[in-house]
Order: sequence, then C-alpha cells, then structure tokens
Amino acid sequence: MNEVRRILKSVFGYSSFKANQKEVINAILAGRDLFAAMPTGGGKSLCYQIPALLFDGLTVVVSPLIALMKDQVDAALSLGIPAAFLNSSQSQEDATETYRRLYRGEIKLLYLSPERLAVDGFTERLAAFNVSLFAVDEAHCLSEWGHDFRPDYLALAQLRTAFPTVPIAAFTATATVRVQEDIIRLLRLEDPFILRASFNRKELFYQVLPKTEVLSQIAQYIGAHPDQSGIVYRLSRKDTDKTVDYLGKLGIRALPYHAGMDKDERARNQERFNNDDVQVIVATTAFGMGIDKNNIRYVIHGDLPKSMEGYYQETGRAGRDGLESQCILFFGTADIARLNYFIRQIEDPAEQRRSRENLDRMARFASVNVCRRKQILEYFNETFEGNCGSCDVCTGTTNEIDAGTDARKLLSAIYRTREGFGAGHIIDIVRGADTEKIRKNGHAALKTYGVGRDKSKKWWMGIVTELIGQQMIFRDSDRFNVLRITEEGRKLLFGNEPFFILDPGGKAES
Ligand code: ADP
Ligand code: ZN
Repeated sequence: MNEVRRILKSVFGYSSFKANQKEVINAILAGRDLFAAMPTGGGKSLCYQIPALLFDGLTVVVSPLIALMKDQVDAALSLGIPAAFLNSSQSQEDATETYRRLYRGEIKLLYLSPERLAVDGFTERLAAFNVSLFAVDEAHCLSEWGHDFRPDYLALAQLRTAFPTVPIAAFTATATVRVQEDIIRLLRLEDPFILRASFNRKELFYQVLPKTEVLSQIAQYIGAHPDQSGIVYRLSRKDTDKTVDYLGKLGIRALPYHAGMDKDERARNQERFNNDDVQVIVATTAFGMGIDKNNIRYVIHGDLPKSMEGYYQETGRAGRDGLESQCILFFGTADIARLNYFIRQIEDPAEQRRSRENLDRMARFASVNVCRRKQILEYFNETFEGNCGSCDVCTGTTNEIDAGTDARKLLSAIYRTREGFGAGHIIDIVRGADTEKIRKNGHAALKTYGVGRDKSKKWWMGIVTELIGQQMIFRDSDRFNVLRITEEGRKLLFGNEPFFILDPGGKAES
C-alpha cells in the first residue's frame, strides 16, 4: 500500500484517495477480476492507472470514446505515464509508431477502441505484448439493458478466451443490477470484486412539471436564468431544430446537436457550448457521452425520456462542479402514447419488451407522489430513506390531492377477489363493466362492483400506478402480473388515512 500512496502523491499529486479508489486498486493489484460502478467524476481512471504503473506488463484500456482518446493519452503523458492509443481515427503512421513502441515495451497504458479489438487477428497480435490487465471503461455499453448498447462492445467477450489468465476490470458510471449481471456474464468475470458506489447526486434538484406549451415553458426557464449554461433534451430531431429556432427568435443563444447533422457541425457546436460561446445546447440523446463541461446549471427534458437510465445519465451532466443544479422534466401523458407508438414498431420481441418495461418505469417516475431521488436510487437498487429536501415531491411544490377513498375502493376490489386478478379486470370491476370475465367469475355480485363508475379508466389506472409507486400493491410477475396487496396497503385498506397522489390534472369523470 505504501507504494500505491507514493504513486498517488508523486505521479498524480493527490494526498488522499477518493471514496472507493483504495478498495478497487487493492483488488486489482491482488489479481482479481473486478466490477466497479462509480458515478461520473468518481475518479475511475486512477483506479487502473495506478495498477498500470505497478504491473510489469501492459495495461489495455478499452474505451468507446474515440474522440476523447487523444486527450486521455495526452493527460496521462503529461503525468509522465507512458501511454498511447490505437483506434480507427488515427493515421497509419501513428499506428505503426505505436506498434513499434509496444514491441519495445515502452508503453504501460494502451487505450483501445472496441472496433480495433474486433479486427481479425488483433488479439493474437496483442498477445505478443505481455498484457497484465484489461480495463473496460463504460462497460454498460455491453448490455442491451443499458441505455447505450454498442454491438461492437460484444467483441470484448473474446478477451477471456484469448487471455485466460489476465485479470479484467470493468468500470461504468451507470449500471442497474441487471446490467451489472450482463457485464459479468459477457466478460466472463470470475468471482469478481464488486464495488457499487452510491449513485446519489446530492447537488441535483429534481422536478417534474406538467407539460402544456412546452416551447414557451422551456424559453421561460432559460430566460429567467440568463447567465447560466444548460442542456435541453428533445426526443426528435425535428423538435430539436424547432426549439433552437424558437429560442433564437427570443434572442437566446442556442445551438442544436443531433445525429441528423454532419459530424463537423456537431463537433463545432459542442465546442462552442464547452467554451461558453453559447448558453444552451438543444439535443437529442445523441449528445453527451464524454461531455466535458462542469458548470452546467440545468438540464431540461422537453419530452419524457425512454428510460430511467437515460434520464439519470442525462440529468447527471448538470452540476459536475458539485454546485446545486436543476433537473426539470416537462411531462404529459401524450408522451407515453407517442413512445408506445415507437415501441410497437420494434420488431425484436425481446427488445420490445425491454423498451416497454423501461418506459413503464419512467412514466411511473414522472407520475407518482414519491420522492424522485428515492425512485432513482431504488432503480439502482439503493435505498434512500426520509425527505431528500431537493425534489419537488419532498419540498411540497407539487399539487397533491387526497385519493384515499378511491384507493380503498380499488384495494377492496383486489382484496375481495383474493388478489388473483390483473389491473385491467380490477378496474373493470370498480367501473362496473359488463365483460365475459366478470360474468364468468360472478364479479358483478361483489360489493365493490361499479362503485367507481363515475371516474374514467385513465383515472383508475393512475390510482393503480400510484398504489404501485407508493408500494401499497405490486404486480406479481410470478403469477401473471396479478395485483397483490402489501402490508402497508392493508393498513391503508382497513384504515382511514389519506392517500396523497399527484394531481393528474384534467377531469376525472368518465
Ligand atoms: P471518472 O472517470 O470516474 O468520471 P475521472 O477519473 O475523470 O472520473 O476523475 C474525475 C476527477 O477527479 C479528475 O479531475 C481527477 O483528476 C480527480 N481525481 C481522481 N482521483 C482523485 C483523488 N484521489 N483526489 C483528488 N482528485 C482526484
Ligand atoms: Zn425527494
């Protein structure tokens, strides 16, 4: 450990570790495989750079961020770490020179793009260099459950076969447990040391606002914060351009960023944003990986994101300097229908199911009266208790209404049918529908039959969502998604407490 501390000080100039760095470095030095999920800015690079300096052989860092590779190498070189990179964007001469230095054993740290690794015969070539460690950066790109799946990352699956004795360390800034399992399985990590740092971003304030006139809502926020830098995310390229035009007409300096633009223009716009030449960038989700700007004060979502993972990543770009920043999501249920439309076009059934699940979770996040931070952290399998003090739900800036009576009507229908039916049928009972299933089960005779006729299906679906979100009921996935009542839910059913939900707006009548 003394050696490690000495390098920390002499090479990097730091006198102490950031959270978790020591544990991760120790595990790598002990020769273990590793999986580490640490938030952006957590100091992941140092975790493989220090071992790279201590190992005899070469440390290979696989990274999808080709555009940043040169900067990463330059940064390492300026610290005196012998580093180089190989990717498709460099000239033949540069690559040849890198190979020459590799053969001479002059390089300790090699950055590599996944598509380089996938080239035929490349792993054999790599085998000549006495590799001590593979570090896989942005490892979530391996998983189809992640928000940024990259097929060329699957080439990494061959590492274990080609280098059975070389340890592999996987790093990511965002991974649910499901993504973590994918990464471990695909890289074939053996009994890896697993580190999951907290995903809580204390400096971010989360809020969801009803989406009405979204362009003017966005403009209003930006106009009220004229000296702050921010990102606006839109779902489509068309809406991205429209938003830029709208803001421009109001004299707000904004530039677009989306996949429909050519590469140079995109790079130019990103550059101008990074240099504070423009105040705002309006982007599709194409924007952001490796973005290098730490004074972003707000991230606005003009449309509902497709997944919690994407939302977490995108909002995470605000407040990198640790100062309080705003995450604002404009949400209307029309967005759910729109995204569902896209999901129906997906041909691969597994992918369609994943997308639908992601959307359901995201829609619930925006709809229910539960601390936004708690919901985000829960998504990453982390628990957060109490009032976070920095989201709209916890600070009481949302519109709450008491739906206790309706919640009890619904719970009672679930209870009286012995927790054996799904949401659709339960709502049919409450609304007094005349269906085959109701007749067959004799459910028209139930006391709760038709007690909620006066309210729409959508209203009752909203109650179901809130009851799930507040953990009063759950869908039992082992039993055809029937609704089951939790301990808390029983208390609500047999008690007389209010059940506060977010005011869904509009009329509840059918
Ligand atoms: P990540 O890759 O996890 O987003 P980086 O490796 O880029 O994070 O590190 C984030 C910042 O923290 C960098 O500026 C880095 O120099 C700094 N840093 C890393 N380790 C330490 C440390 N032990 N003490 C102080 N600063 C550190
Ligand atoms: Zn909260």
